[in-house]
Amino acid sequence: MLPKAHGGILVDRVLNGEERERARGEAARLPRLEVSNEIAREVMNIATGVLSPLDGFMGREDFEAVVSTGRLANGLPWTIPIVLDVAEARMAGLGDEAALSYRGEPFARLAIREVYTYDREAFARGVFGTADSRHPGVARVLALKDRLVAGPVRVFQLLESAFPKYHLRPLDTRVLFEKKGWRTVVGFQTRNVPHLGHEYVQKTALTFVDGIFINPVIGLKKTGDFKDEVILAAHEALLQNYYLKERAVMAILETEMRYGGPREAIFHAIVRKNLGCSHFVIGRDHAGIGTFYPPYAAQEIFDRYPDLGIVPLFFTAFFACKRCGGVVNEKTCPHGAEDRLDFSGTKFRNAILQGGAEADQLVRPEVVGAVRRFKDPFIGE
Ligand SMILES: [Zn+2]
Repeated sequence: MLPKAHGGILVDRVLNGEERERARGEAARLPRLEVSNEIAREVMNIATGVLSPLDGFMGREDFEAVVSTGRLANGLPWTIPIVLDVAEARMAGLGDEAALSYRGEPFARLAIREVYTYDREAFARGVFGTADSRHPGVARVLALKDRLVAGPVRVFQLLESAFPKYHLRPLDTRVLFEKKGWRTVVGFQTRNVPHLGHEYVQKTALTFVDGIFINPVIGLKKTGDFKDEVILAAHEALLQNYYLKERAVMAILETEMRYGGPREAIFHAIVRKNLGCSHFVIGRDHAGIGTFYPPYAAQEIFDRYPDLGIVPLFFTAFFACKRCGGVVNEKTCPHGAEDRLDFSGTKFRNAILQGGAEADQLVRPEVVGAVRRFKDPFIGE
């Protein structure tokens, strides 16, 4: 049996048929609140159940409980506030309901239940463990507008996915997993082109469950990262050549990276539970950035969530070892640094772009081929 959605019920706030047309018509008369791409994507995630049990943006009670305890006010594990920030000046024109619009097109209704002030620094410290504005997640929190607006959403126009072919809602993934006869599924989060180390982790995890769900995060990333379409093509090449079709599924998750380390690891696990996963891979420094989090903090935090309802699978750092002849970790290889190659960003990048003697110990040739088909695989300035 696949796990139930977080909190027990898979949220569905997408309107259909007559209801949809009525909502669309009524929305035309509501005050409009234009939102960013990131917020619009989050509304899609709420409405399609990716963020179950949330049915909208958090009110003060849940927000404060999440920030200070890592749980909703009712005690359910939840670690990242899902909030809608609005400038104080903008609030005057909004009544008890608004139409959310993206690029000028209304797509959802928001029932405004609560408007509240909050402490940005406490928000940052609670979630990220720091208020240092060099942390990109903290910087975004410090730049939020004055007020948070809470209430349930109803979507009457789903926004086009950046990659429709790879966009699956929790309802879709759950049907797909069941059709394949999977009762246990491990979720694998990624935001990179896959190297042999990733494949080693994926296949080690897959050994113990029925299927693997490769789930790249698509959205806001940093200059110099691989582009989303490159990451997808590279994973596709790996799947085609090195996985059984009946054992692996890939779909995207459209959300922003918060770089929240341990807190975000719990959040990522909850999202995958909603998508139907029974297990979730947590590697070294999951969702971390720079040296803000100790390397295994994102694993240790799971001790505080025995009631999460998804099993974390912890992996240590891995290397390619020339003497062992493959990918190893500290527990499986007795050799020293002189025999090992790490998968550092620069080394991996060079292996892909320039090849060289060590390249085939780091990355599959089909993956290299897939990346090289793009004229410019990286995100520019
Ligand atoms: Zn070795």
